[in-house]
Amino acid sequence: MRLNKDEQVPKTINTMIGKNLHWLLVLGGTVILGTVIGILPDNAEATRALETNAPATVIEHEAAPTTLDIPSRSATQTEPAAAPIEQPGEWHTVKVKSGDNLSLMFARNNLSPQELYKVASNKHAAKQLKNLFPGDEINLRIDEGTLTELSYEFDLGQSLHMIRDGDSFEAEIIEKPLEYRTAQATGVIKDSLFSSAQTAGLSDKLTMELASIFGWDIDFVLDIRQGDSFAVIYEEVFLDGEKVRDGNIVAATFNNKGTAYQAIRYADASGRNDYYSPDGRSMRKAFLRTPVDFSRISSRFNLKRKHPVLNTFRAHKGVDYAASRGTPIKATGDGKVIYRGTKGGYGKTVIIQHGSSYSSLYAHMSNYKRGVRNGTRVKQGQIIGYVGSSGLATGPHLHYEFRVNGVHRNPLTIKLPDAQPLSKQYMADFQSHANPLVASLSLLSKISVASTDL
Ligand SMILES: [Zn+2]
Repeated sequence: MRLNKDEQVPKTINTMIGKNLHWLLVLGGTVILGTVIGILPDNAEATRALETNAPATVIEHEAAPTTLDIPSRSATQTEPAAAPIEQPGEWHTVKVKSGDNLSLMFARNNLSPQELYKVASNKHAAKQLKNLFPGDEINLRIDEGTLTELSYEFDLGQSLHMIRDGDSFEAEIIEKPLEYRTAQATGVIKDSLFSSAQTAGLSDKLTMELASIFGWDIDFVLDIRQGDSFAVIYEEVFLDGEKVRDGNIVAATFNNKGTAYQAIRYADASGRNDYYSPDGRSMRKAFLRTPVDFSRISSRFNLKRKHPVLNTFRAHKGVDYAASRGTPIKATGDGKVIYRGTKGGYGKTVIIQHGSSYSSLYAHMSNYKRGVRNGTRVKQGQIIGYVGSSGLATGPHLHYEFRVNGVHRNPLTIKLPDAQPLSKQYMADFQSHANPLVASLSLLSKISVASTDL
């Protein structure tokens, strides 16, 4: 599950409000979003936070302007107000197993199909109970074969609560606000990124995220050196005062071979969420360097190559990636499919046009990805087909070409354009968000490097 503090909580609420005014009696008033952004206030605080890895001070608590036009009650309440009388029965915690559903779980707890029907006929509850995931827990209060109460946390901080009322059930959604605090970590590379990040207290998930943010500029296998350093400011998600998981990286810096790269996470008003350099350039490139994972280059871009099948000299205007048959091939950039079909010696081929200047070609496919055809719009990284050896090919490989204004260019060495930068209209807002983070990062970096010099 991926929860986004800016979107998911209000979206869920809005969906429910739209349809279910009558049963959502308890979900009124202002919905508090636990949006907490901590910024390091000063040197001393930064040092303390660094040493103890404690979350930085909470300085902001934001309330979302979501007012519901129904009798109000704080959504943050944890106990249902609709239960003036304690329901009879004992609580049982039932774990969802693989392949499980509510019917099986009720049967395991000796609850009759009639009981199931009463629960399931509350359609709002049925919606939440339809998609159960293995490992989820449902709490059932049972009194001599009669279900009196049910509670199920279907999402972080969001629970379905049902109470028996005669022969039916009343349902409500209880929301607990998630609280976001910031924490930071710094480290110096001794051997691998992963071991150094672990030493610095970063989880594997955050380390992966760090590598993917800077992965466009730094090859974390080949480029990193002993003495490279990093500083990361990230979110931790709290529920009821307890940390439940790491959130996103808010800002990070990576010093690689003397060059410092910095990235700031920013969500613009249109909902686009990305990492940018402090001057608003996207951290991503418009094109992936390679269209296949787990491959090796078997033939490079070479304008004078002897063709392995034709045995004549002709230019190799692309790069060949040897990979096993069936390996997914990814579109290297956003664009539109302008050709999908068999193309002479290329065999099964897809050509994608990216904007007005760029195009990419993928040949010798074993098959196209279903749904990819002429005119299909594709996103960067989207699978378009599979490695094969159709056309003139000695074995399974992808032949990849990259053209700029119609001219073949070497995709391995060409300087790739940045992905779309931050839109100008958001620049001022971005700067006011980014500046204190950049200041915190440079402070953290200094402390980190100073401590390793000792
Ligand atoms: Zn080739």
